[in-house]
Amino acid sequence: DSWSIIHLDGLLERLVLLMDPDALKSNIQIRLHLNHAPVVRGSEDKLQQVFMNLLRNAIEAISENGRIDIILKETDGLAIIHFQDTGSGIDETSQDHLFTPFFTTKGEGTGLGLSICQSIIKAYDGEIKVRNLPEKGAEFTVILPI
Ligand code: ADP
Ligand code: MG
Repeated sequence: DSWSIIHLDGLLERLVLLMDPDALKSNIQIRLHLNHAPVVRGSEDKLQQVFMNLLRNAIEAISENGRIDIILKETDGLAIIHFQDTGSGIDETSQDHLFTPFFTTKGEGTGLGLSICQSIIKAYDGEIKVRNLPEKGAEFTVILPI
């Protein structure tokens, strides 16, 4: 994969344009909050794959009628991207297995999305974290060194 300088704001903007038609069909609003414009090095294709997986999962967790907030921040030499959804959230029994290959709670899921996301982010010395939101839904956070 070719490495380049990646402007995360532009990458996320393009991704939202790409996924918006699918989301709108299910009455899901995707909101992008670009508070900073961090730049990282890496494969744009690989990072796009990570973000697209997270967005797909968020859309599937909502199923219909809801909202996804993508928040981009930069702090202490780190780029931080939050994906917050108003979906089902993650139940306690699933929590420890989300990143395990082939773990899925979906009838036709492959269970590979998150494990692929994690290995890509780890290759960049980054981190991917998950928590349930206090209101409703889940938040996946990607942290990448700048
Ligand atoms: P798949 O999407 O094929 O099931 P993933 O590795 O992408 O595989 O996700 C694994 C599991 O993690 C999902 O089946 C689902 O149970 C859970 N999950 C992932 N993203 C979310 C989310 N945004 N909200 C709730 N659960 C999620
Ligand atoms: Mg998935």
